[in-house]
Amino acid sequence: MEFELYKNLLDNLYDGVYFVDTERRITYWNKGAEQISGFTSSEVVGTRCADNLLMHVDDQGNMLCKESCPLVKTIADGIPQRAEVYLHHKDGHRIPALVTVTPIQDVQGNIVGAVEIFSDNSSHIAALQRIRDLEKIAYLDPLTELANRRFTEINLRARFDEMWRYGWPFGIVLIDIDHFKNVNDLYGREIGDKTLKMVAQTLAKNLRSFDVIGRWGGEEFLAIIMNARKDYLKSIANRFRVLVEQSSFSVGKDIVQVTISLGTTLARADDTTADLLKRVDTLMYQSKSGGRNRVSTD
Ligand code: GH3
Ligand code: MG
Ligand code: MG
Repeated sequence: MEFELYKNLLDNLYDGVYFVDTERRITYWNKGAEQISGFTSSEVVGTRCADNLLMHVDDQGNMLCKESCPLVKTIADGIPQRAEVYLHHKDGHRIPALVTVTPIQDVQGNIVGAVEIFSDNSSHIAALQRIRDLEKIAYLDPLTELANRRFTEINLRARFDEMWRYGWPFGIVLIDIDHFKNVNDLYGREIGDKTLKMVAQTLAKNLRSFDVIGRWGGEEFLAIIMNARKDYLKSIANRFRVLVEQSSFSVGKDIVQVTISLGTTLARADDTTADLLKRVDTLMYQSKSGGRNRVSTD
């Protein structure tokens, strides 16, 4: 059971992982290794790494399997090794890889083999990662870690497109923290920030995975609810209201707690984005003037 669990974990890593015995015969080869090298488990398991299937070389072109194989060293002295090598892909090309070799010991502490973990070290991968990081920066509100306004607007446009094209309904919920200025005035901006984060997390954690909640402005949030009907919108908005009211943290002897005022409405086929936002804004202000900590819908 436990073995299956670990095998499953290993199989699903992005990194390449393989095990060798003391003869450097490959006994296990995970999916990551298949992906990076192009060699399948059945092609590799049972062969010896000295058979030169992989033909690791260093940046001088030295064959590591023959001369200074990190596996040999680790199996001999038990010391983990790290190396930058160039793997031979099944299709012929060379891939820069970062390799870590760790000894495998039995319960008595005898070295019975080694595990090599390698990751694709190419700038191509690094560039993709960089794009993902940049995307995150471009669309994330750094304080609350919710989607920022830009992302929320893009998402809103996408929902409109779907409604016009396929008739899929959606609705929005505008949320504004009540008397938030008081929190800043009473406890300072840092506690104000912490309060914003608390509210943001309560909202984000209580939304279905395909719905979107973004930070719309200072202490305002906008939720976009897919495939919504009026009663569902109302119930989700009310759930937000109750759960935010029940969220709190302490500062010294005080409990910091806030409420929210909400407006919610369904998009209409003849709406522009501006129409929809105007309507939800008016509803949210109805909640404010009606006494706050409430939901208004049309
Ligand atoms: P109302 O119930 O009418 O909404 O009252 P309010 O005090 O919440 O509204 P108001 O618009 O007067 O004040 C909003 C406050 O939110 C003022 C602003 O300093 C604060 N604020 C906006 N962004 C941030 C932020 O990122 N961090 C902190 N700590 N405060 C912020
Ligand atoms: Mg506001
Ligand atoms: Mg406010």
